[in-house]
Formats: sequence, C-alpha cells, structure tokens
Amino acid sequence: MEKQLMSQFWHAIESAKTIAIGGHKKPDGDCVGSSIGLYNYITENYPDKEVKCYLGEYAKEFEILEGLANACTCVDEKSFKEAIHSAPTYDLFIALDTSNTERLEFFKIFEAARDKILADHHITNERYARLNLVFESSSAAEACYDLIAFREDKEFPLLSKPVADAIYLGIIHDTGVFKHSNTTRHTMEIAGALLECGVSSSKMIDGTFYHKTYTQNLILARVLLESELYFDGKVITGVVPREYLDLYNASKPDLEGIVDQLRITEGVEAAIFAYETEGEGNYKYSMRSNDIVDVSKIAVKFGGGGHVRAAGCTIEGSAKEGLALLIDEIKKQL
Ligand code: AMP
Ligand code: MN
Ligand code: MN
Repeated sequence: MEKQLMSQFWHAIESAKTIAIGGHKKPDGDCVGSSIGLYNYITENYPDKEVKCYLGEYAKEFEILEGLANACTCVDEKSFKEAIHSAPTYDLFIALDTSNTERLEFFKIFEAARDKILADHHITNERYARLNLVFESSSAAEACYDLIAFREDKEFPLLSKPVADAIYLGIIHDTGVFKHSNTTRHTMEIAGALLECGVSSSKMIDGTFYHKTYTQNLILARVLLESELYFDGKVITGVVPREYLDLYNASKPDLEGIVDQLRITEGVEAAIFAYETEGEGNYKYSMRSNDIVDVSKIAVKFGGGGHVRAAGCTIEGSAKEGLALLIDEIKKQL
C-alpha cells in the first residue's frame, strides 16, 4: 500500500473528534476482528477521541475479544434500528472489510458522517469512500495491522493484547487458520509477531473457529444430508430454508463454516451454500472454490462480490432457481 495513502488514513483519524467504525452485514471473524482491533488501537492511542463500533449480529464466540462489549452498539434487529436512530453525526466513518455500500450494515450512519474512509481487501471493492485503501492482503485485519505498523514506523510493532488478539482473530478467520491461498509469507510473519504480543492463539483458534455448538452441528448435519452433487461431484450445493432456522432454533451466525465443510468434500471444485434471508423471498449464496473457478466473477454478475476463492451474492427467488443460475456459471468455467 502506498505510504501516502496510509498517511492520509491516519490524518483523517487525527482530524476527527468522533469516529464510527463499521463493517459488512453478517459480520464474520475478519469484520469483527479488524473493527475491534482498530477500535482498541485508536482508543489506546487517542484517548480523547470518541469511538464507537457498529457491527450487526455477530457470533457469540467473538465475545472472547476484549473491548467488544465497550465498542459495540448492536447485535440484533431491534437494537440495530435504535442504533441507527440515535446515532450522532460522526466526524469520520471508517468502513472495514466491506466492498460496497449495500453490504455496509450501518450505511445511514456512514452516509451522514462528515468524512468517510475505508480499508478493505476485496478485489471487487467499489471505492465508495473519500479515501479508499484496498490492500492485497489476506484480510481486513492484516490491512489494519499494516496501517498500525505504518503509524508505529516499525515493521512488526509490539501491540497490546486486546489489539493483537482481535487482529489475530480476523486473520485466522479469513485464512481458514492459515490454509487458504490468500495466506502469504507476510501474513505468517504478522501472525508470528502477534504471538510475541501474547495472543491467545489456541483459545482464538479453537474457541472461535473449530468449536461448534450443538445447534450448529445439527444444522450442518441437515445441510450435508441434503447436499447435492453436480458434474461428477465437482460442484456441491447445500440449502437452508428459513424454516430450518426456527426448527433448530438457530440464527444466521450459526451458518458460518457450512460452506467450507461442503468445499472440502473429496473431488469438489466449487461449493455453493444458500440460505433464505428473512421475509424477502431471497436467498443469500456463499460460494467457495478450490483451484479453478473464479467465484468472485460469478458473484459480481449477480450484484455481489468477494474474492477469487470466496464470494457471495443475493438472488431473488427460490433456491432452486438461484442455484441453477450459479451452477450454470460455474459450468462455463470448469
Ligand atoms: P460469505 O460467503 O458471505 O462468507 O462471503 C465470502 C466473501 O465474499 C467475503 O469476503 C464477503 O465479504 C464477500 N461477499 C459476500 N457476499 C457479498 C456481496 N453480496 N457483495 C459483495 N461481497 C460479498
Ligand atoms: Mn468479511
Ligand atoms: Mn475479510
């Protein structure tokens, strides 16, 4: 990332008295980790600033992060509306891990802010802020690390545990614990430096990535049981209609990781996981690929976005219809 842009990023933060940090809908580990990491760093280093994080309904496991309870306004739909309603006009909104404004959960607060900047790592990022820093990094959390390292003027600065834990959590989630192709030497070096900051590595990895609640296991089992294979098993699909959430008393965060379980099925190149979004007659699709298919191209075609090996979009209509469209696009690339 160009030094001049990173310097402008910190200048925007220094010029603001009130700051909101926000990420994408259905916040994942990277969204939560990068937001809380940056939140903790700013509050430690600029105690005079008023900083607030705006995150949607995140998985309970992320409460392991120190600072999360202080930083955040909202977890469910009711408090979401209240948060939007009662939010002041911020001097600065920092959008993290979010490629476009439709994906930005608290868009209204972003829109009202006097200044807007973003740090992201999606190749499909639409550069919707005044200052747009789109990193070629594994995760938004890795981007935040680089931004902090720039400000500290050290390649691998010593960070407090609350900052280091949050960034580490973001990195492990977007790299699938350092196994996805987005993991680079730099990612690993940062992870090494974070270990020296005292991160609770196994607690983060097991507690937020591998452990599943009984509910999560049940819904995963149901999806696997009903999964379908196409093209000699190169493509696999799984679906969660709305009624499954009620049946298993599950919520959206409980669906995290299902698409990866589909993807690692022997012989599979691309996996599609669909779940019905509430009351809209739409399905949200998560796509993953192993070696060949560029799923971000497909997602963009249907108004979504993401990365080459992990992307998503929402399509109106039944899962059958939506899956047929996506499978057809995958077929063209196989
Ligand atoms: P998901 O399948 O929701 O875990 O998302 C995989 C990747 O694609 C993540 O980096 C998301 O931020 C991104 N993504 C998912 N859905 C969309 C969308 N509708 N628009 C843009 N990016 C998306
Ligand atoms: Mn994300
Ligand atoms: Mn990310």
